Amino acid sequence: MTTVNKRDVIVVGAGPVGMIAGLALQKKGISCVVIEAEEKDAPRAGSRAIFLHSASLKLLEETSQGLGFELAKNGIIWPIKRTLFRGKEVYVRNYGITNNQDTTKLPHFTSLHQHHIEKIIYDACIAAGVEFVYGEPAKNLDIAKDGVKLTTASGDVWEADYVIGCDGARSVVREQAGIEFEGPRTHDTFLVVDIEEDENDPMPVERIFHYQHPAMGRRNVMYVPFKGGLRVDLQLLADDKVEDYTSEEGLKEWLPKVMDPKYAERVTWVSSYRFHQVVADSFTDPNCRILLAGEAAHLFAPFGARGLNSGVPDAIIAVRGIEQAIQAKNEEERRQAIDAAATERRIAAKWNRDGSTTALHHLQGESKEMNLKRELAASLVSVVPTLGRWLDEGPYGPKFGPPELTTKY
Ligand SMILES: Cc1cc2nc3c(=O)[nH]c(=O)nc-3n(C[C@H](O)[C@H](O)[C@H](O)COP(=O)(O)OP(=O)(O)OC[C@H]3O[C@@H](n4cnc5c(N)ncnc54)[C@H](O)[C@@H]3O)c2cc1C
Repeated sequence: MTTVNKRDVIVVGAGPVGMIAGLALQKKGISCVVIEAEEKDAPRAGSRAIFLHSASLKLLEETSQGLGFELAKNGIIWPIKRTLFRGKEVYVRNYGITNNQDTTKLPHFTSLHQHHIEKIIYDACIAAGVEFVYGEPAKNLDIAKDGVKLTTASGDVWEADYVIGCDGARSVVREQAGIEFEGPRTHDTFLVVDIEEDENDPMPVERIFHYQHPAMGRRNVMYVPFKGGLRVDLQLLADDKVEDYTSEEGLKEWLPKVMDPKYAERVTWVSSYRFHQVVADSFTDPNCRILLAGEAAHLFAPFGARGLNSGVPDAIIAVRGIEQAIQAKNEEERRQAIDAAATERRIAAKWNRDGSTTALHHLQGESKEMNLKRELAASLVSVVPTLGRWLDEGPYGPKFGPPELTTKY
């Protein structure tokens, strides 16, 4: 006979967003399990987030005391940001010495590799007693009015009042709930190269953006430092052959043109991306038993670092919505609580997608109007310095976040 495991909430996926959902539920005393398809310690997909905003650190600190500060102190803050246009500096800002070891105030951001972020969140989960089940892909979800029955690939059955789908871009939860992604895919190809720092002779800790790098045939190049390394983003041109840049020989050819040649021997990751700009058409199902969070709910180009930074509030607001639903006095109130959380995060996701679309538009070379605007701005910075700031901020999109929370939790 099949044993049926029961919890108040099942979280599907133990990526960063699923772990945060599990942690937030556990801290609220709501019984939960986090079910993960891969075995524990299986290699994680790709090289991804390196930048966490202060808003994410604050939310994580509120969820689990010490977690925001732990992430801050394990990352770095770059004191200098610099922008060049065809080799000429058009903007520089030096914030002076920055302190990520302050134990009283969270910094504006922290920069560390996603593997490192996940390890710190996992440790907080273990300390809080979050239950994980590894190596069990969720396969089938029977979503009824009064709860969800989830069957894994090995035939294990789990029942819960709610499921938070944090199972990433190819989410089974999203698919089983009949929810679709809406939106385009970019046609520009970006290369992401991670480089290990030479601790004996480190690079200056500066975030640098080069529009039309002269040594790279006018391709855009961005450098973002993170703890222990540096990420180099190269935007390829429409006719470029990706393998010419990602192969070992290709890398050895172009990387020394944009940095000290020794770093060509210190590459830890290289990949090419064409990004999706998609948002789920609903963040819940008609029975209000499912909530989607993180990449199960949206995919954005990383310019402006909106992916994980919006996955954090997705998870935390999903948990707050479920907490309210559990306390609801009737079915209408219950549905309203779930619906409010889903709606709020969908509005935020669309806002974030618009933000990364603005950033992409700024970067792409296909709009004559934008090409002209950038060129004019670069030629006028000495007389209108604010244009330098516009050039500096453009690749990351608008700085302000989604509208104020409508729901009071
Ligand atoms: C190049 C790049 C740079 C980025 N930079 C940033 C950045 O600086 N800042 C930022 O905020 N974001 C950034 N992002 C985005 C960020 O990496 C993602 O938003 C984040 O990883 C999403 O986390 P997640 O937990 O939703 O999904 P994932 O990390 O994909 O985790 C999903 C988990 O679900 C599991 N799973 C899948 N299917 C099942 C199933 N059927 N059953 C059970 N488990 C399942 C998977 O194994 C996985 O463990 C970047 C992304 C890229 C590609």
